[in-house]
Amino acid sequence: MKTIFAKVRAVYAELEKRPVQRQCIARTQCCQFQLTGLTPELTKGEALLAWQAFRATGRKELPERTDGACPLLQPATGRCLIYADRPFGCRTHFCEAAGGMIPRQDVVDLIRRLEEIDRELGGDGPHQIVTALTAALQNHKTR
Ligand code: SF4
Repeated sequence: MKTIFAKVRAVYAELEKRPVQRQCIARTQCCQFQLTGLTPELTKGEALLAWQAFRATGRKELPERTDGACPLLQPATGRCLIYADRPFGCRTHFCEAAGGMIPRQDVVDLIRRLEEIDRELGGDGPHQIVTALTAALQNHKTR
C-alpha cells in the first residue's frame, strides 16, 4: 500500500509544480458542498490515502455531518483534517479565490495517472468523497 500512497502523492506533487495560478488559502468554502452544489470525486488510490491520513489523526469513523459539508472539515477549527493529503479535486476545484477551476486539459495526464492507479487497485472509477471514504473504510476493515 505504501507504493500506492507514494504514487498518489507523486501526482499531487507534480500538480504543485505546474505553472498554474493557485493560491489556496484554506478558506474551505469549497468544502461546503451544500452551498457550492459541487462535491469532489475520488479515485480509489486517493480515497485510500485520504482514509489513511484520516486514521492518522486517531479517528476511526467518519463524522456525521448534517450541514452538507465535507466530513473531513473540522467544525471547531474550520480546517481540513487531511489537508496535506487532500484529494486531487480539492486541489483543482472551482474556488474563485484560489484561482478558479484548473482546465481539464492542463491536468489530464495527472488525472490519467490517478485513473491508472484506480485500475491497478481494482477500482471502478471515481466516487463522491463520502462514498469513496466509506469504501476505503470497508477496505481497511477487510484487510
Ligand atoms: S477533503 Fe479537505 S479540502 Fe477536500 S473538501 Fe474535504 S475538508 Fe475540504
